[in-house]
Amino acid sequence: MESGGGDRFEMVIGLEVHAQLLTHSKMYCGCAARYADAAPNSHVCAVCAGLPGALPVMNRAAVEFCILTGLALGAEIPGFCKLDRKNYVYPDLPKGYQISQYDLPLCIGGALEFASEGAPKRAGITRVHIEEDTGRLVHRAGAPGDEVSLVDLNRSGVPLMEIVGEPDLRSPAEAADYLVALRQTLRYVGASTGNMEEGAFRCDANVSVRERGAPLGAKVEVKNMNSFRAVERALRFEEERQRAVLAEGGSIAQETRGWVEASGVTVSQRTKEQAHDYRYFPEPDLPPLTISAEMVAEIRDRLPELPGARRDRFASRYGLDAKEIETLTAEREVADVFEAVVGPDGTAEAARRAANWIVNDVMGLQRARGLPPEQLPINAAQLRDLLDAVAAGELSARAAKEVLPRIADGELPRAAAGRLNLLALDDEEVVRSAVTDALAASPSAVADFRAGKKAAMGRLIGETMKRTGGRAKPEQVRMLLEEALTES
Ligand code: ADP
Ligand code: MG
Ligand code: ZN
Repeated sequence: MESGGGDRFEMVIGLEVHAQLLTHSKMYCGCAARYADAAPNSHVCAVCAGLPGALPVMNRAAVEFCILTGLALGAEIPGFCKLDRKNYVYPDLPKGYQISQYDLPLCIGGALEFASEGAPKRAGITRVHIEEDTGRLVHRAGAPGDEVSLVDLNRSGVPLMEIVGEPDLRSPAEAADYLVALRQTLRYVGASTGNMEEGAFRCDANVSVRERGAPLGAKVEVKNMNSFRAVERALRFEEERQRAVLAEGGSIAQETRGWVEASGVTVSQRTKEQAHDYRYFPEPDLPPLTISAEMVAEIRDRLPELPGARRDRFASRYGLDAKEIETLTAEREVADVFEAVVGPDGTAEAARRAANWIVNDVMGLQRARGLPPEQLPINAAQLRDLLDAVAAGELSARAAKEVLPRIADGELPRAAAGRLNLLALDDEEVVRSAVTDALAASPSAVADFRAGKKAAMGRLIGETMKRTGGRAKPEQVRMLLEEALTES
């Protein structure tokens, strides 16, 4: 179904993102917030198990990460905010409520700037607030009637922030681009891994379709997407479904729907009438938070250069093309390596070369090794040594590519090349004897060259290089060949 152009209808999307904060401990207790591979219920205390009378204590690092994120998004940080109880019953929530923020969040307003289909786009942020995660249910299959659900509270009380976006997005692709940019911002500031597959970055999508220029239509909230692709697919499905209803003169009811990955559809979960009433009220066990201007200023100082600013600077400072810049800045750590290799006084040419090596060879090796996106297989000092060796003619480009995957942990590429006998041949006598051999073995190329076919020189260089295992410097080979051919 086409969207845009002469189309009568327009899609409206607003996203609510929950991101796990990268703190050491949980939101309101001292239990470790990271528990990968830990046995179920091994990171649990009286507070996060929700035992009656246990008192929560606010995690300062979580508050700081939330403010840091708000500042990255240009939000306002009010001097005063509070925590509220959001009450509901579910087996993964032993307390019977989550401590969240209702009417006075930590961060208000702001916007996310990103690129979508080549054009700059700006989507408003409504608010960013902190809350805690729930436990997890593990469903075990069994004979009918014997299925069981087990409760694991390791995740209970893990710090989350919710980033509520304005209904400013107009297509599934735009929503996906927004998510990628938001995730990138969270990773740049170090607030969250943003890992969607691991549940550290979850998105609920609110979707409506309206006649162009009309007020907002009733929204459908879509849940259960656990990849960027799933979000885009769910939104496409929902757009078509709503358009079809409207095209037939029907109307959309406000409801919550769940995305079913296997069948590629959304299904109704509850309607407006069944909507939760969370009976929010101020959390009596935690004092409100006062956030001083000094604290905000101190956190603002921790902000790194953000992705958009970095992309702009890479374009103006180094003149790289947009695709290359996008790849280099996707992860802050990779952009850092690039800049460390180029150095503060690096020329545009040096930048182009470093970019080329990182984007093609180094990231190719990173993929082949299955490393995480922020972790390159070699560090800046190693890459700089490699590029210096190539620039100095100590390593041919071919030899450099051969060395790269064989560099040991922390080893300098020149040392690796020496160890592997790949350094350029410096011994002129050895090259001279290779030239003699090559000439003797290629009489037809020699005859061609003498008959004026200059292209034969390429063949002779190739023959000589072969005899040095590719280690001779091609310029020296050419010089020695020319010398030999004019002498005799
Ligand atoms: P609720 O009270 O149901 O949570 P909110 O007004 O807080 O609704 O909005 C929640 C999310 O839904 C926000 O991300 C917002 O941008 C989005 N949203 C609100 N109205 C619409 C709409 N008509 N169409 C699409 N998204 C919407
Ligand atoms: Mg809401
Ligand atoms: Zn605990």
